[in-house]
Amino acid sequence: MTEEKIFEQDDKNYLPVFKRYKIVLERGEGAYLYDINGKKYIDFLAGIAVNVLGHNYPPLVKAISEQAAKVIHVSNLYYTEPQATAAVKLVKLSGLDRAFFANSGAEANEGAIKIARKFAKSLSKDKTQIITAWDSFHGRTLATLTATGQPHYQEGLEPLPAGFDYVHFNDADELAEKISDKTCAVMLETIQGEGGVYPPKGDYLKRVRELCDKHGALLILDEIQSGMGRSGKFFAYEKYGIKPDIVTLAKGLAGGVPIGAFVCTEEVAQAFKPGDHGTTFGGNPLACAAANVVLDTVPNEKFLAHVEEVGAYFKDKLIGLQEKYPAQIKEIRGEGLILGAQLDKPKRSGVEIVNECMKRGAIINCTVGTVLRFIPPLIITREQVDEVINILDSVLGE
Ligand SMILES: *Cc1c(COP(=O)(O)O)cnc(C)c1O
Repeated sequence: MTEEKIFEQDDKNYLPVFKRYKIVLERGEGAYLYDINGKKYIDFLAGIAVNVLGHNYPPLVKAISEQAAKVIHVSNLYYTEPQATAAVKLVKLSGLDRAFFANSGAEANEGAIKIARKFAKSLSKDKTQIITAWDSFHGRTLATLTATGQPHYQEGLEPLPAGFDYVHFNDADELAEKISDKTCAVMLETIQGEGGVYPPKGDYLKRVRELCDKHGALLILDEIQSGMGRSGKFFAYEKYGIKPDIVTLAKGLAGGVPIGAFVCTEEVAQAFKPGDHGTTFGGNPLACAAANVVLDTVPNEKFLAHVEEVGAYFKDKLIGLQEKYPAQIKEIRGEGLILGAQLDKPKRSGVEIVNECMKRGAIINCTVGTVLRFIPPLIITREQVDEVINILDSVLGE
């Protein structure tokens, strides 16, 4: 099919919820993607923080192919080795006790919210409040878009699930005012992604942990974007000296195969009895075989040191661009390979910058209209960082 025909058919038949860029992507190799005309792009979006091992990574392709040839799916009514193995690895890495697999980030969060509610109800029947942050992103199901502190995702969908309240991220004093013994859980992204790349400041997360402990509230950390090594640690919370009661994962967890997961303490796990939660596809052997490759690769010291090192190099280069174009870039934020450039009255809008970069062969992202977000495969090299920096330099300098 020609490119024009694909645009036409998709525009006519697919639900119009995505404002798509006009390219048709066909294949990938490492940090590069190719469209159907053979044009090459360096991929600094990675399917929105998904392709952590890059595209067409041979051990991942091999594991998926071998598992597909054995069995793709069986019901969760039975045991499988890939799922048991993946659970062991997540439990060990998180320092928590029990894992559950779903199919997406929203579903992982939905499960975390459900188990938190059930756990808190067992303590007191009005312990139902869930506090989340403004500018957060937790997914698109009704409960998770209610948890998402961005009203535009909620408009027109009311009535929304009850019991959610919002505080400003990085403001522990505000949380201290809102939290009470009626709080069931505080749910935060360890590093806010979609909302504009905001890492926690100072001892914020430590204070959040203390406030949760004081009021018997669970701390749920959403690491769907910031986890899987992106921050330079496997779980971003390891950077801040705290541990949640529940952590949620998805995006990069199976290198591109749909998966989600939450991992929780034994105490919380006891709130669910057989039949209280479930999924048909979640954690099937294909997805878990893929997850096992990520879980065998990313947590290695050398791999994480690479993320830290190339991330620091990239951040320095972005700061260099900020110094060169102070009227256009106000701030560089982020950790490891989740980085953002806050635009300030740029000559071109964020979306225009993304489009210009695409024309020049670089796929980047703009979130909340004013933040260029960089969430590349974790295997990128310094040379590939230079490639993107040079393209950005030419776009900003025009
Ligand atoms: C992407 C994302 C989600 C939702 O994941 P889906 O797989 O799209 O449902 C939830 N939380 C965070 C932090 C995310 O980045």
